[in-house]
Amino acid sequence: MLKTEVAMAAERGSAESRWTLDSARELYDLPFNDLLYRSHGIHRANFDPNEVQLSKLLNIKTGGCPEDCGYCSQSAHASGLAASKLMKLDDVMSEARKAKESGATRYCMGAAWRSPKARDEAAIVAMVKGVKSLGLETCMTLGMLSPEQAETFADAGLDYYNHNVDTSERFYPEVITTRSFSDRLETLAHVRDAGIKVCSGGILGMGETVDDRIDMLVTLANLPEPPESVPINLLIPMPGTRMANVDPVDPIEFIRIIALARLMMPASSVRLTAGRTAMSDEMQALCFFAGANSIFIGDTLLTAANPGNDRDSNLLARLGMTATSLEIPGEC
Ligand code: SAM
Ligand code: SF4
Repeated sequence: MLKTEVAMAAERGSAESRWTLDSARELYDLPFNDLLYRSHGIHRANFDPNEVQLSKLLNIKTGGCPEDCGYCSQSAHASGLAASKLMKLDDVMSEARKAKESGATRYCMGAAWRSPKARDEAAIVAMVKGVKSLGLETCMTLGMLSPEQAETFADAGLDYYNHNVDTSERFYPEVITTRSFSDRLETLAHVRDAGIKVCSGGILGMGETVDDRIDMLVTLANLPEPPESVPINLLIPMPGTRMANVDPVDPIEFIRIIALARLMMPASSVRLTAGRTAMSDEMQALCFFAGANSIFIGDTLLTAANPGNDRDSNLLARLGMTATSLEIPGEC
């Protein structure tokens, strides 16, 4: 397909235009202004370009993870982070109330697990129900799930499940050896089959090629139903991890991937997630223009730093952008 046809197919968001690495690469290689002109147009056609959805992330169980994700400070294979027990419901609820007061509409709870154990499920269900009662959308990111576990969490009312494919299938073994790329896709299928919205994206800056980054988006866009939420992380080099000293990503290349994610998944929320503390205001502004429309608020992610509410509200104010309001009223 000619470049203009590929771009028009993307603009139509046509279902039959299954993506290939070549067709996606053609868009990626467009002159920067043309690429952003196209992605901003698609963004405007699907979202209010001056609105950003705010989420808050909480680590409900830290460290000691048996998986060996090369970027992750919570892996037991990395040096340093002590493992904690699963947080108590009351503590999760008080943190969620604070997040709601700060304008978050979605509350994301992450646990450093390969996958939740049966003994953990009741506590997770209680957290989903509790946070939902506040009128917040709920998201969990707990590692791999069985079909039964996905059904259990769906029955509890879980709105989103985060499970990032992280990179291309080719590069995946360079990042993680304790599970496979298809293990990841299997959990995404269980989550989708259970009727939970899918949050899946990945990380730039782990030593992958541009084609790896594009191929990650091709995998996501070609899923039977693309994820409703696509987090694009900029690697935060964590001391004690295998990726602590990887060369940083060219900001222009990062923004190109944001634009490409927008073109390839027009109706998905493209999320500017980890790594914003290393991004200038101008870089973030270009990411929003390219089609990013969701961020994490607060000064910490799971273990890494985040810009914090003051810097974020200052930037959004200067850009004339507002936070998406809550749809579900819920208790105050
Ligand atoms: N344990 C869960 C799992 O592996 O799916 C949740 C892990 S964490 C909340 C979710 C995502 O954050 C990871 O899949 C990864 O994409 C991203 N992440 C973790 N550490 C990161 C880092 N140092 N830099 C950038 N992104 C990171
Ligand atoms: Fe474990 Fe998740 Fe960290 Fe991987 S990203 S080591 S699965 S906590």
